[in-house]
Amino acid sequence: MGKRKVLIVGAGIAGLSLANALQKYCKDQIDYRIVERQLKFTPQGAGIALPANAVAAFQQLGLDQTIIQQSFHVKQIVFTDEKNTLLAQSETDTLHPKNFPFLALSRYKLHEILLGHCPLDKISFGKSVVGLTSKSEQVQVKFNDGTEEAFDLVVGADGIRSQVRKLSDLGHEDQPLSLGIFVWRMLLKRPPKLEHPTYMLGTGTLFMLFPISDEEMYCYAHVLSPQNGSHNEEISVAQMKSHFAGFEGDVKFALDQITTSQQLMSVPLETVPEVKTHPKMMKNILYIGDAAHACAPSFQQGGAMSVEDAVIVAKLLAAFEEIPIEQIVNFYDTFRLKTIHSVQSLSNLVLQKAAQAIDAQTIEARNQKIMNDGPFNVAFWREYLKVDVFDELDNFIRTRMN
Ligand SMILES: Cc1cc2nc3c(=O)[nH]c(=O)nc-3n(C[C@H](O)[C@H](O)[C@H](O)COP(=O)(O)OP(=O)(O)OC[C@H]3O[C@@H](n4cnc5c(N)ncnc54)[C@H](O)[C@@H]3O)c2cc1C
Repeated sequence: MGKRKVLIVGAGIAGLSLANALQKYCKDQIDYRIVERQLKFTPQGAGIALPANAVAAFQQLGLDQTIIQQSFHVKQIVFTDEKNTLLAQSETDTLHPKNFPFLALSRYKLHEILLGHCPLDKISFGKSVVGLTSKSEQVQVKFNDGTEEAFDLVVGADGIRSQVRKLSDLGHEDQPLSLGIFVWRMLLKRPPKLEHPTYMLGTGTLFMLFPISDEEMYCYAHVLSPQNGSHNEEISVAQMKSHFAGFEGDVKFALDQITTSQQLMSVPLETVPEVKTHPKMMKNILYIGDAAHACAPSFQQGGAMSVEDAVIVAKLLAAFEEIPIEQIVNFYDTFRLKTIHSVQSLSNLVLQKAAQAIDAQTIEARNQKIMNDGPFNVAFWREYLKVDVFDELDNFIRTRMN
């Protein structure tokens, strides 16, 4: 059998991780290409927190040590109220059974690492997909430059507004759903006394300060917003600052550094309406990353799940090189759907519930719960990280091979 041809659409965390994974696990079996619609490489979103399972997934790509060297090592998570009164703090180093650390770094650095291990001649920038049709055992792909080519597998790694998802689902429009929360992200100078990532909870608001190096911190700030309202007014710096004027601790140090709207990356939080790993009608297509399961960043699982998806797809392709791609897509679905569905629904629910604490009684109950149980994200990781997805995958592959 000759090499199978795989097209990856999108060079974000998911697409680049898949390129790295194919390079590592399927070098002799797969011939892959990436198309990225942007003309040049511009990662969105300032910083990124990587819980231990993300680092475990990067180990599968052989990139964990490089990422560890370039990241801030998170040892504790701190929750306070808006007056900076401590509600709870928890250790993060002991959460993963294999002791992977919890890290944080700039998005730019992470993308550089992923890109640095992927041959540049495999990526076409400024190129996107405009048509997909089934053609016997392949998918015929039409590109925006007028060219066409057939692939054995097309992977939609093109984010929450996935064009692959739209084109392969026979025109079915599944627009992202608003979560009723508006977010700003920024990279700022780290305050001298900020030792640990600190989540400051206000009235329908959250300001998170996350060290990412000795000098820099990543900040995430959110407010409740109308589900379908206009967000234009939120883009002004004065408007943004007014939401957090009552916050104490290091928030003032952060706000004083913001002078222009170019420092703010602002987005309404959205989710895919339905978690899907592949289209129902077209056989040789699958989705990874946000194209499959975009959700609220409550447990910082978007990046982790994207890298895990990529490794899982590559390992399935490597293990089952003789069986039809359609069957591999089914394996990916069977193995992955339940987990990503539950992470997505819990992530959306938790963040919306926390943000909706706007009256004194609910805020008191929320704070009391955090004081009793500890940070809600650490409680989630403590349970979720007990299972090593790659050990499970090895078992899954073994049982399917027998
Ligand atoms: C506010 C916020 C904070 C977050 N914080 C964290 C965090 O701390 N930790 C974490 O792990 N996750 C976090 N996430 C989630 C994380 O950012 C995403 O899950 C992750 O970036 C998904 O990567 P992706 O590659 O699937 O999608 P994307 O990053 O969206 O990349 C998709 C790529 O595809 C390209 N593309 C799109 N359409 C086409 C097309 N038609 N043709 C070709 N190319 C195309 C795009 O240009 C882009 O480069 C956060 C998300 C948000 C919204």
